[in-house]
Amino acid sequence: MIIAIDGPAGAGKTTIAKLLAKRLGILYLDTGATYRVLTLKALKDNIPLDDPFALRYTAINLNVRWEEGKIYLDGEEVTDRIRSPQIDKIISLPVSFKEVREAMVEFQRRLVGTKDAVVEGRDTTTVVFPNADYKFYLDASLSERARRRYCDMVNKNIQVELEEIKQDMEVRDRADLTRDIGPLKKAPDAIFIDTTNLTIEEVIERILSYIKR
Ligand code: C5P
Repeated sequence: MIIAIDGPAGAGKTTIAKLLAKRLGILYLDTGATYRVLTLKALKDNIPLDDPFALRYTAINLNVRWEEGKIYLDGEEVTDRIRSPQIDKIISLPVSFKEVREAMVEFQRRLVGTKDAVVEGRDTTTVVFPNADYKFYLDASLSERARRRYCDMVNKNIQVELEEIKQDMEVRDRADLTRDIGPLKKAPDAIFIDTTNLTIEEVIERILSYIKR
C-alpha cells in the first residue's frame, strides 16, 4: 500500500506523513529530504547548481543512508543541516532540471521498493507514485505555513525573521508551481485537505477515515 501526500512547504506534509507512517507501522519517505541531501552534496563538492549533467551524476552516486529518522551523507549526520535556510534559498534551481528529477525519482522508488509506505513531496501523487492507493494534497494559507516553518527554526535555535521565511516560501512556491518537470499540482484524484485551522491530530484522523473506508 502506498499513501502519497503532496502540497507546498509548511502545509504539514512532513509532520503528518511521519506520524501516519508510525501509526500504521509502515515506511516513511520524505522526497524533499532526498532533494535537500543532493543540494547539500552539490554545495560540499562545489558542483555548479546550474549544471544538470554534473548534478545528475551526483544524484546517481549519492552515498546517503536513512537510519532511525536520521540522515547520513557520506557517513556524516546531516539531518538538521539539510533544513537550513541556506538550502531553502538555493534548492529551487537544482531540483528544476529534468535530468536531476529523473534520477531522483528512480532513487525514491528504489528506497520504497516493494514495501508499504507513506511518501510525501511535491510530485509523489503525480509523478513518483501516480498509482498510489491513497492520494492527499495538503495546503494551508501562506501566513500559517510561514508561521509553522518559523516555529520549527526557532525550536532548532536557528535565527530567522518571520517575514524573510514568508518571502522565501513565496519564491519557492512559485518555482515549485511553475517548473516544467514535476511541478507542484493537485492530482485530480487526490483528496484536498486545508490544514490552516486543523490540529495535527485532526488531519491524521481525517486521512485515516479515508483509509479505513
Ligand atoms: O518538502 P521540502 O520543503 O523539504 O522540500 C524541499 C524542496 O525540494 C522544495 O522546495 C521543492 O522545491 C523540492 N522538492 C521537489 N519535489 C519533491 C519534494 C521536494 O521538487 N518531491
